Amino acid sequence: MQLTEAQVLELLQGGDDAWLYAESARLCRENFGDAVYLRGIVEFSNVCANGCSYCGLRRQNADAKRYRLTREEIMESVTVLDREDLPTVVLQSGDNGAYSTSGIGEIIREVKSRFDMAVTLSLGDRPVGDYAHWHACGADRFLLRIETTNRGLYSDLRDGKLFEDRVKLVESLRNLGYEAGSGFMVGLPGTDARTTAQDILFLTSLGLDMIGVGPFIPHHATPLASEPMADPDLTYRTLAVLRLMNPMANMPATSALEAMEPGGRLKGLELGCNVIMPSVTPDRVRAAYSIYPGKHSHTVNTEDSIIAAKDIIRSIGRVPSASKGYSLRRNHEQQGPPRCPAGDFAGRAQECG
Ligand code: SAH
Repeated sequence: MQLTEAQVLELLQGGDDAWLYAESARLCRENFGDAVYLRGIVEFSNVCANGCSYCGLRRQNADAKRYRLTREEIMESVTVLDREDLPTVVLQSGDNGAYSTSGIGEIIREVKSRFDMAVTLSLGDRPVGDYAHWHACGADRFLLRIETTNRGLYSDLRDGKLFEDRVKLVESLRNLGYEAGSGFMVGLPGTDARTTAQDILFLTSLGLDMIGVGPFIPHHATPLASEPMADPDLTYRTLAVLRLMNPMANMPATSALEAMEPGGRLKGLELGCNVIMPSVTPDRVRAAYSIYPGKHSHTVNTEDSIIAAKDIIRSIGRVPSASKGYSLRRNHEQQGPPRCPAGDFAGRAQECG
């Protein structure tokens, strides 16, 4: 569905919540049936060279206990996913801290050779050559959020970096053949509903396979410590409007929703999200992966985190899917894609056969 900025703004301001949430849930069901895809996330290092003002991993945060998982530890987490029938691993870390380009490439190769698993990367800004190398090693997807479309704010919050450069990186990921994901934070200080409407329209214009959007949660050891958290209503409406405009995108109910308020991920699934990403970061370090407070407060260990995710899905009558959940959007556009195993989709996804 195409919407103008004025229409989006009206929906974000609560113009017709009943219709908005019914329609976003309907579109999700039409495209994905009852299935909710599970992606296990391994936060393999919190070492970070960047100084993003919103993020608890920023290099200036001397309180953070820095860690790097070994390759063996990462593979142990991947083994847990395989055992629990979660066939996607998301490898996430701070920027430029833990492993060399080739070291990450070796990990990707090992996962792809030992397991029948999709590999998603979330490693921040890197030279396009690094992205190309990892794709050649077998990585399937990459998540890189644009954070905000307010150019001045983007530079202020990210060490003077340029919004345009980030967008180019997202586009390069798609051109390399990745399923590309992006997103933004709702409620960053200095933004309002109009900024959010512009974020939604811009993100939609990128034609993404994955859209990950969550609320801004202030972290005590950052310059934004005393700023307010995102407004929950604005956050939920944002997700629902994104679903209206991107019916086939894979959209996670992020853990930031749960940090915003208990039950946030469940609400996210009810209003149109179709993915949930339990953390399988080893127990001994998971508390240290503190991008924002409360990230891991709802579950203390790997198994609980997978069980909690499946429980949420079942509690609303949906089904935890053992599918890799490849991009419906891309498969639909290509009509008969190479990476679309039979039975991999529910709902409209049967077209992929
Ligand atoms: N370093 C990588 C991946 C980890 S950060 C990267 O920058 O891409 C993943 C996402 O967490 C960021 O893109 C940002 O949108 C989100 N995030 C960071 N700090 C946050 C905060 N305080 N509240 C909510 N989300 C936050």
